[in-house]
Amino acid sequence: MEKIKLGISSCLMGEKVRYDGGHRLDPFLKETLGQYMEYVPVCPEVECGLPIPRESMHLEGNPESPRLVTSFTKREITKQMIKWAKKRVIELEKEDLCGFIFKSNSPSSSMERVRVYNEQGMPIKKGVGMFARILMEHFPLLPVEDEVRLHDPQLRENFIERIFSLKRWRETLSKKESRGNLVDFHTRHKLLILSHSPKHYQRMGNLIAHAKDLPLKELYLRYQTLLMESLRLKTTPKKNANVLQHMMGYFKQELSPDEKKEVLEVIDHYRQGYIPLIVPITLIKHYARKYDQPYLKQQVYLNPHPLELQLRNHV
Ligand code: SF4
Repeated sequence: MEKIKLGISSCLMGEKVRYDGGHRLDPFLKETLGQYMEYVPVCPEVECGLPIPRESMHLEGNPESPRLVTSFTKREITKQMIKWAKKRVIELEKEDLCGFIFKSNSPSSSMERVRVYNEQGMPIKKGVGMFARILMEHFPLLPVEDEVRLHDPQLRENFIERIFSLKRWRETLSKKESRGNLVDFHTRHKLLILSHSPKHYQRMGNLIAHAKDLPLKELYLRYQTLLMESLRLKTTPKKNANVLQHMMGYFKQELSPDEKKEVLEVIDHYRQGYIPLIVPITLIKHYARKYDQPYLKQQVYLNPHPLELQLRNHV
């Protein structure tokens, strides 16, 4: 797979663009995840024309449509930022981004919980960074996260799984549109979707079953929306355990009673939080190969992202 294009707040890449001339390098994002990504760095404050260093700024007023104001001289930057941001998101359409990683706690770049000050100077943490809001409104299905949330192993796995899935989806889009290509993508992603949302799994199954009733464009659009919606929902040990048991059904007849007992025990230990997901996955993969189950072997669920990222190694 070629590298995945991902937008990112420039300071997280180590660029010295912050108001104080510093950066906020995130080594995991740059070095580890960076092996698989082609980053497109964006610094809203510098790109909209502000210098380095500069006065710090914050949001004021209504959290839904706040003003961006410098902290001491109270200079308003709102119009300048909005004008630039609206142009920048149109430029970003050409980049074919599969996601965006924002810097937390920034009045320009954060995706949530930014302080917005009321008239009395009291902050409430309900704001969205001015550029982040415009970007998320422009690309509503794009996977987005911030670097602090990505320290949470579950959120990290979910985000990375979504960007790899979106990349595979874009590869399907780059081929000729056809019901066959869509069915092929869906078949490979079925169990991944099931691990996120049994409801979406059913709805997408129905959509595919009635694929002939819809014009291709509409079919692809509906599928894409359901796909990104489903993957946004978190997997849980219970949902994963259901998928693993479902997979075991494919080679149940071939297993000895003792092997069957072992698989069920491993799945249950995972469900109870004693062992990480990678353990039952490895066992199921082993049997899928041993008993040559083509449907299971092609499931993206068994390999949704590079093993080296160790995203399924936590309990
Ligand atoms: S948080 Fe955003 S605006 Fe601030 S320095 Fe980083 S990229 Fe630039």
